Amino acid sequence: MSKPTVVRTRQELKGALRQLPGRLGLVMTMGALHEGHLSLIRESKKHADSVMVTVFVNPTQFAPGEDFDAYPRDLEADLEAVSRVGADLVFAPSAEEVYPHGDASVTIDPGPVAKVLEGETRPTHFAGVCLVVHKMFNITGADVAVFGQKDAQQLAIVRQMVRDLDMPIEIVSAPIVRAEDGLALSSRNSYLSADERTRALSLSKALRAGKDAASAGATSTEIKEAASSVLTDANVRIDYVELVDPVSFESIESGEGVLAIAAYVGSTRLIDNTILEVRGADAK
Ligand code: AMP
Repeated sequence: MSKPTVVRTRQELKGALRQLPGRLGLVMTMGALHEGHLSLIRESKKHADSVMVTVFVNPTQFAPGEDFDAYPRDLEADLEAVSRVGADLVFAPSAEEVYPHGDASVTIDPGPVAKVLEGETRPTHFAGVCLVVHKMFNITGADVAVFGQKDAQQLAIVRQMVRDLDMPIEIVSAPIVRAEDGLALSSRNSYLSADERTRALSLSKALRAGKDAASAGATSTEIKEAASSVLTDANVRIDYVELVDPVSFESIESGEGVLAIAAYVGSTRLIDNTILEVRGADAK
């Protein structure tokens, strides 16, 4: 596949976008690209004539003390990865290019979905996500954007923002890409030592246990217990194990749900989830 055009500024982006024919697909990333990101690019090509990728570690979605400075950055490797799947354009702006006026004074309140799970531990995170997503939608004029189910709560919030604010863009989701041993691919996996990486497998194993319990007709409480019972490693500290509605992110007792886990493996915070059907006590 050929190398994508790479642009750093809005001005360059404007010119490059004029060269792209037809419906524009957008894949937003923070770089350190892996197969999960590449699957989004492949999916985007099914829905658009041209595909662009943003590589931008967005400061406004990190709180003080989080890993903004440590977050892995390797644009050369990212361009190499993108050229393997064949996106047309990469926009890799600086923070000043995205936020030329400093902190935005008009911001987006992502509402109740942003207050639970990830939002409880990271209270300012989703407002920062909505801000950068909305800006990138405006800057690029994309027709369709693909987001990963890996960040299920982010996906739900972006869908709600697009719906509630009538944003003229289609949102498509793509399934979680995992390593062969089950670990969900994440740029943050690079923080893990070999020992921690082995311990991190307990997240996907816990989801598997929860899913098996659901298939066997367990209640939502039993499903969460089945998942939690796998997370016994003292070096894996659970932040939450929750079973929620995929749209409202409220707890559910029956129907389709997202079983979501966040846990610290050493000092690295990882998230993972799976979709399952809670048939509940009545089905027993
Ligand atoms: P990030 O670079 O972590 O901000 O992620 C950029 C996009 O890639 C988001 O829509 C993520 O949900 C998606 N993504 C990250 N990891 C995976 C994965 N393992 N499988 C599928 N999509 C992913």
